[in-house]
Amino acid sequence: MVDALHVAVVGSGPSGFYAADTLLAADDPVVRVDVLERLPTPWGLVRSGVAPDHPKIKSVADTFDQIAEHERFRWYGNVDLGVDVTRKELLQRYDAVIYALGAQSDRHLEVPGEQLLGSVAATDVVGWYNGHPHYPDLELPLHGERAVVVGNGNVALDVARMLCTPVADLNRTDIADHALEVLSRSSVREVLVLGRRGPAQATWTTLELRELGDIDGVDVVVEPPGVLDIADDGLPPLVRRNLASLRTIADRPLRAGTRRLVLRFLRSPVALRGSGHVEQVELACNDLVADDAGRLLARDSGAREVIDAGLVVRAVGYVGVPVEGLPFDPVAGHIPHDEGRVVGHEREYVVGWIKRGPTGVIGTNKKDARETVRRLLADLGPGSGSRLDGAGDGDRPARLAAWLHTKQPELVTDAGWHAIDTAERLAGEAQERPRVKLVHTSDLLAAARGAEEPGRAEP
Ligand code: NAP
Repeated sequence: MVDALHVAVVGSGPSGFYAADTLLAADDPVVRVDVLERLPTPWGLVRSGVAPDHPKIKSVADTFDQIAEHERFRWYGNVDLGVDVTRKELLQRYDAVIYALGAQSDRHLEVPGEQLLGSVAATDVVGWYNGHPHYPDLELPLHGERAVVVGNGNVALDVARMLCTPVADLNRTDIADHALEVLSRSSVREVLVLGRRGPAQATWTTLELRELGDIDGVDVVVEPPGVLDIADDGLPPLVRRNLASLRTIADRPLRAGTRRLVLRFLRSPVALRGSGHVEQVELACNDLVADDAGRLLARDSGAREVIDAGLVVRAVGYVGVPVEGLPFDPVAGHIPHDEGRVVGHEREYVVGWIKRGPTGVIGTNKKDARETVRRLLADLGPGSGSRLDGAGDGDRPARLAAWLHTKQPELVTDAGWHAIDTAERLAGEAQERPRVKLVHTSDLLAAARGAEEPGRAEP
């Protein structure tokens, strides 16, 4: 077999793995793939984003493991773009680079008081309960009676669910131990989820909504009264299903002594108040008004409510982070592209949320990857004349592996990741959990180290 192309994929979340899989399926030219990851662990949001109580969604990692077994696939962890390796260095050594970087930051509410302690981004909370090594020390004040989650998407529902699910249920999951410990001391009795528009405009999906009605010891309340009195005619099927689920949940009688999960619509936080930390949230009451295109928007009616809360989590959308030297659309929060090829750049491509913004579910990345890889192969395939000198050179994979080891002596290879994975699963077995995550980079690297051969040049 002759290697025609060697492609670097930067990022090993779902979009990176599906891009690799699509590249490996090509036969003319044949492609080798090196996936580079800044963490010592793969799987991106499947490990650090999908809620711990959603093991079925996380099981897509089995597919990623199968992709990783391909003979022309290599995974390299603990190598950070812009820190350990530069774009330029990658472009000098690989025929093409695909950025699968996700949307690593979050949108802000842009209201006074947002900087107070107790005002946090859902991205951080999600990373914290999932054991992402950047967030083990996040301080989540759960000593108040009420926590507020702003946003009406699936991330808001994940966070709200995690804040009210009994610890007895969470401790069967792979939730980070530090989160389990903090949640076990929580005084929160009410989680208030705020939507700036109405229930028909929410972006969550029906399955996730239905789950709210199944949390042990939690009653769901829908506010304000009458907000579900909407005619279903003409609404998309997904919205109709969501409204039906909300009506079913809202019709249930409330029980004494339960935690409450309150979905309050037509409310926007306009200020967070408190001395040093969040104590109160001022809410604007909104009306729905149609814009010129007929889209229903929230308009401040002028009426106000003030509520007590010790924690405000903003789950109002993720946003991509620019890559030095590449164009970036700051409004949409992604890298502009033409069918996946970075605008104005040769041999550089994007997939996933850094390409299309933070939308869609894990499977959406398959179609997305197909488009980008089709573009790449059309650009660099036979007869394109765009490949690097040395394409097809059989020593190139070993040279690339050796080079990566010089750039990051603590590089984690597949062997190192398997050692981490095994250690976590073994620790989980003893507690009847899928795994107990290692949450500090130093512990992850220590677990990997025994399996790594320093400076090894892989075949
Ligand atoms: P999202 O679906 O875009 O939801 C963002 C929410 O924030 C919307 O309700 C939006 O309201 C609201 N919002 C934005 N700016 C606001 C502001 N200034 N004030 C108040 N509300 C504001 O995004 P997401 O929840 O972050 O999810 C990202 C993607 O991941 C989605 O595709 C989601 O389906 C997916 N995901 C899936 C799962 C799952 O399948 N279980 C779990 C998690 C995430 P407007 O509509 O009014 O703008």
